[in-house]
Amino acid sequence: MSEAPHPSQALSEVLEDLRRHLLWQQEEGGRFLQVDARVAAEARAAGLPRPAALARPPVASKPAPAPPVPPPAAPPPPPRAAAPQIERPQAPRVLTPAPPALIEVPAQMRPSTGALPGVVDGERPRLDDIRRELGDCRRCKLCTGRKNIVFGSGNPRAELVFVGEGPGETEDQQGVPFVGAAGQLLTKMIEAMGYRRDDIYICNVVKCRPPNNRNPEPDEVAACEPFLRAQLKAIQPKAIVALGKFAAQTLLRDSTPITRLRGNWRQYEGIQLMPTFHPAYLLRQPAEKRKAWEDLQQVMKFFGKTSGQRG
Ligand code: URA
Repeated sequence: MSEAPHPSQALSEVLEDLRRHLLWQQEEGGRFLQVDARVAAEARAAGLPRPAALARPPVASKPAPAPPVPPPAAPPPPPRAAAPQIERPQAPRVLTPAPPALIEVPAQMRPSTGALPGVVDGERPRLDDIRRELGDCRRCKLCTGRKNIVFGSGNPRAELVFVGEGPGETEDQQGVPFVGAAGQLLTKMIEAMGYRRDDIYICNVVKCRPPNNRNPEPDEVAACEPFLRAQLKAIQPKAIVALGKFAAQTLLRDSTPITRLRGNWRQYEGIQLMPTFHPAYLLRQPAEKRKAWEDLQQVMKFFGKTSGQRG
């Protein structure tokens, strides 16, 4: 009879299997999820597709250990009055796992792999392909409270893109960025620069409304940021205005406060980027509008525009 492995050896084998499984999941970019056969059957019943045959198995499977032979039952003790019951330590139960199965994780729930969504072989993507890739996004918890995904609006070939933080209540209701109170101020700023909203493109770092307009959390920014980067790769503007700290710090990967970033040209992927104050902040601090206008005048100068001039 072969001896049962020592518990610490069994544990280290399980940990090694787990490590290899996680490495495989990481390499697959979260495309497949290894689950037990019952969960896979339920997932298929719920309409999740069965993945195509895999090129290689996720974990080199080991033969299942032989079920342990139960110890012979102890003969019943002779009847004795009030004999104390001694608890005998139980031999550890070895569970024979059901063979694992694979289910395909829907695209809208997969973690980011670092590749930009909708970008194939580094080519210029199309906004509608990126929107399709975003789908009915469930990549972060903001999906639970949103009414609409606010992808972006405007000219897909704009020379100038404005990037905000995330939709507020009105934007969430309408599915369009910057249409609430802050949006009305932004529209005035855009028109004062000599543009119409249709000339430029407007989008946000996160595409779903954070509850009660709280700040987006790091995991939410991380889930949505690849879509913003892909949008900018599709549009290829000549300049970007980053509205507020989230847009500026996310695009620049720089945690310098917006009060220090604003008004200074930076580069994002070879594109001129001007950080300035967010219009919602300007509604609360109207005295700061003058500084924001100075920042926007630098952008106009870059495009050779004078105030109110169109085209
Ligand atoms: N604030 C933002 O950052 N974005 C919007 O779309 C609206 C308000």
